[in-house]
Amino acid sequence: MTRGEARRPPQEFDRVLSSMCTTPHPAAREAAQAFLATNPGDPETYPAVAERERDAVALLGEIVGLSSPHGYIAAGGTEANLQAVRAARNRADADAVNVVAPASAHFSFQKAADVLGVELRLAPTDGDHRADVAAVADLVDGDTAVVVGVAGTTEYGRVDPIPALADIAAGVDANLHVDAAWGGFVLPFTDHDWSFADAPVNTMAIDPHKMGQAPVPAGGFLARDPETLDALAIETPYLESDTQPTLGGTRSGAGVAGALASLRALWPDGYREQYERTQGNAEYLAAELAARGYDVVDPELPLVAADMPDAEFQALREEGWRISRTASDALRVVCMPHVTREMLAAFLDDVDALA
Ligand code: PLP
Repeated sequence: MTRGEARRPPQEFDRVLSSMCTTPHPAAREAAQAFLATNPGDPETYPAVAERERDAVALLGEIVGLSSPHGYIAAGGTEANLQAVRAARNRADADAVNVVAPASAHFSFQKAADVLGVELRLAPTDGDHRADVAAVADLVDGDTAVVVGVAGTTEYGRVDPIPALADIAAGVDANLHVDAAWGGFVLPFTDHDWSFADAPVNTMAIDPHKMGQAPVPAGGFLARDPETLDALAIETPYLESDTQPTLGGTRSGAGVAGALASLRALWPDGYREQYERTQGNAEYLAAELAARGYDVVDPELPLVAADMPDAEFQALREEGWRISRTASDALRVVCMPHVTREMLAAFLDDVDALA
């Protein structure tokens, strides 16, 4: 088997077309097992896993084009997004801060707003499911702590206009957080015109347990400045280390070691091959559905959305296909690494059988 090559999915993944998780790379699986009983939340007691976490953060920084990144391996994108909002809130010079995000932002921002007691302002998306820049500009004010852009939206796989959102954030002295929890491992191989390095992005979510082929739980929280982690740090009197910026206390050493192993095995060539294969699969599925008369959203990243009548959707679910729908009821298929061309052809056979 070569790096990035499609592996036959284990049986439980055979018909999974809706998940943003995937089968872990074999090296990641092995590394996770070796570190099952370690706790990166206590780095002085478990130095080997702490070192792996530093290496994983450095590699995530390389992927997004950020030298000297600060951050840690989180439980997932939800934690990374919450921590981005928390850091921005803690650094803001205001009593009642708000967060401005496109309506396409993941529901984790609603949890973050709820837990942190900040106001979440959602701006409508444009006709192509991206953040509407004018609508975002209308919602920010002097109390905005963070503007959110999504690079790979959960429902349509869209990449927001990050440089324009960065300008808006800078205009009100707010942070810019980019949620690339799903899209982060794909973006380096696309022709998007920004990077963490040249757009003033303060924080970012990029999850190894999604397109990174790492075992769950492995999210990535990255920050440009050390002050962001300082804004999150809490003193830890009974541990040998002094402070902890993470949300969790005890964390998964398996997640950290698994993430590093998959990053080492796949960055950059394996992830490039993975992108080419998954994007090719998305374009194949989009074209086949369009040829059958479905209204398809052009896949910018490896995710296909298409209008499908409820009865057909339900019939396909009854055939065992794990498919899901967007808030506006479009069929949503995520072409993760375990999704093969054969799986998609079998899915299309079942679509044809409905006729
Ligand atoms: N951000 C995006 C763009 C997502 O698609 C998701 C989940 O699919 C999340 C954040 C939340 O990630 P998690 O479920 O790992 O907490």
